[in-house]
Amino acid sequence: MVSAIVLAAGSGSRMKSDKAKQFMEINGRPLIYYALKVFEASIVDEIILVTRQQDINIMREDIVKKYSFTKVRRVVAGGKERYDSVENGLKACDKRSNIIMIHDGARPFVTNAMILSSISEVRRCKACTVGMPVKDTIKVVDEEGFGIETPDRSTLYQIQTPQTFDRKILTEAYSRMRADLADIRANGAGSKGGAKDNGAGRVNITDDTMLVEHYLDIKSKIVEGSYNNIKVTTPEDIGFAEAILRS
Ligand code: C5P
Repeated sequence: MVSAIVLAAGSGSRMKSDKAKQFMEINGRPLIYYALKVFEASIVDEIILVTRQQDINIMREDIVKKYSFTKVRRVVAGGKERYDSVENGLKACDKRSNIIMIHDGARPFVTNAMILSSISEVRRCKACTVGMPVKDTIKVVDEEGFGIETPDRSTLYQIQTPQTFDRKILTEAYSRMRADLADIRANGAGSKGGAKDNGAGRVNITDDTMLVEHYLDIKSKIVEGSYNNIKVTTPEDIGFAEAILRS
């Protein structure tokens, strides 16, 4: 059984709008509608929608009911950080699910092909993510804004979602992260060789492939995504998203 956790509990602060990002409209439909529609029509068995506490009722009435998303089994509150939201979603997944997909609700152009290839890949290698080769040259910069290193571009990918995991691996990584956080709090930052809480333990965890890499040393296989699979983050992305829809 496959569960999809769709994340929509971010603050959307980079959007600089009074309206929560997940409800901003693209071609007359709320942003969150698009990703949910693709998962609803896919082979996933259930969708867990993670949203801000204050939006739970609106999500239920104005999105799930209105658009008849019957696979959305639960709408749960997220947390302060992205990983808190994922963890809440994970706890709400059906006990029988052995494959968990995690998707940013702010990526409206996920496709059924990405979902299918991720599910078939995760059966082979336990952890995978959608991604694309970077097109630009990427630089590591110092505090003064000078480029100090240029990694070989042919080895670099931009990582997108969905990210898909064997449930046991993901659960184990989250329990190690919690233990790590508890340890840092109990001992104080710096007590173990300069260890410091960077947000999710000793490193700044920004997605779940990083989490399994850091805590379990598990590599995630890259599955082909799309340059259209953008994350709607800043106001100009609304225009890009409308252009992608039109095309
Ligand atoms: O902040 P970021 O761009 O990484 O957010 C990616 C996705 O994670 C978005 O869909 C956002 O709604 C979600 N998120 C969340 N809970 C948070 C932070 C982000 O569900 N605390």
